[in-house]
Amino acid sequence: MAQKKTNVVIIGGGIVGSLLALILGLNGLKVVLIEKQSLDDLNSNSYDGRSYALNAGSMKLLVTLNIWDKIKEKVQIVSRVLLQQGAVTTQPQPFDLNFYDYETDNGPIFYMVEDRFLRKVILRKVRECSNINHLTSKSVKRQNIIDSLIEITLDDTQVIKADVAIGADGFPSRSAKRAKIKRFDQNYNQSSIVGVVRHENNHNDEAFQLFLPAGPLAILPLIGNRSCYVWTMSTSEAERIHELDEDLFLKRLVKVFDNRRGKIELDTPSNIFPISLSIANKLVDEKFALIGDSAHNIHPIAGQGLNLGIRDVACLSEILILARRNGEDIGAVNVLRRYSKWRNFDIFTMALFTDMANKVFSNDNFLLQIARGISFDFISKSPILKSYLMKEASGFVGDIPKLLQGQDI
Ligand SMILES: Cc1cc2nc3c(=O)[nH]c(=O)nc-3n(C[C@H](O)[C@H](O)[C@H](O)COP(=O)(O)OP(=O)(O)OC[C@H]3O[C@@H](n4cnc5c(N)ncnc54)[C@H](O)[C@@H]3O)c2cc1C
Repeated sequence: MAQKKTNVVIIGGGIVGSLLALILGLNGLKVVLIEKQSLDDLNSNSYDGRSYALNAGSMKLLVTLNIWDKIKEKVQIVSRVLLQQGAVTTQPQPFDLNFYDYETDNGPIFYMVEDRFLRKVILRKVRECSNINHLTSKSVKRQNIIDSLIEITLDDTQVIKADVAIGADGFPSRSAKRAKIKRFDQNYNQSSIVGVVRHENNHNDEAFQLFLPAGPLAILPLIGNRSCYVWTMSTSEAERIHELDEDLFLKRLVKVFDNRRGKIELDTPSNIFPISLSIANKLVDEKFALIGDSAHNIHPIAGQGLNLGIRDVACLSEILILARRNGEDIGAVNVLRRYSKWRNFDIFTMALFTDMANKVFSNDNFLLQIARGISFDFISKSPILKSYLMKEASGFVGDIPKLLQGQDI
């Protein structure tokens, strides 16, 4: 089959891969975006129940791309986050920790967006961009370096040559495997049950996280009197609860909500996601780089996975666009290494933080319960530490890429 040459080929058109395609396409690079799902599936109204707690940095990037404008009516702000220790059978412990929006310089603490709204607006933008060739229902079979270009062979035998290929195919990444990039993997034997409920009481823009011994329960506000829940526990228990019929499932949910939002009803069916930690041991290889979950799949305990992927996109797009303007080869090792140098520390610290938080909080050990209480109390009384934690969560630490500051590249 005929071979096509492009600047960048992106394998995987989830939110992260699509955002990178859009930024590069809008800045004059020719992009081929390969997605294995069909266009009908991408366009469908089906909803996996996932909502994202986007931070201020991610919001600014979406504003710059004129995406925010299209979803802002569907965005719920979070102005208070309450963290609390608890146990299923007893009342919550006295230790809690509050974060308020007036303690940050960046407005709301988070912006809650349902996956179904965000994904569709990005898809529409991708389809409108004349520099993007969006190939759907296609899978990659091979990737090889030939004559200083990377060659991607699709399952329909089509071959695409590019200056650089980006793996954005999520976890577990086949593109990383093809590039022989090894990973650090840890199976938590945990899964999250995720869905949306309607409730009687107003959520007052409050997000709530209850640390139960088996794993955290997050109740995150959505527009209307609705909240998304992310209920994490051992995989065997999650599978058992998820398989219950709707009435029994609701009864279990009512018990853990413990009247926090008044009477609740299911708004969407629940879904189940296995949770693990998987970090690629390098982000770049010859003519190849990894972004998003294909580079780092982390625990959802802090709601940071997509924010981390959006930071990859902001950094990599800035590097590739500036390199091209300077007449450099965008697939050259020295160009791609700028990306890994910029991202390694952030990815490593976030993976470590979520891993430690899960180990410390998903635990019924008595001494750890006391230690948790003391640390909650210590953070509560330390404005400097609190402000640092909030800055870290907002994505504004270290060398901040232009798009996260709301500036064009
Ligand atoms: C329960 C839960 C709650 C979460 N909550 C939050 C939150 O509040 N905030 C937050 O920031 N993050 C959150 N996350 C994390 C977030 O969902 C992920 O980090 C994010 O969706 C990753 O996006 P991605 O585009 O990198 O990967 P994916 O969404 O996995 O996309 C990968 C894409 O590649 C395609 N693909 C795969 N293989 C191929 C192939 N061979 N060829 C072509 N295409 C291929 C797939 O079809 C898919 O479209 C949560 C995750 C979970 C599980």
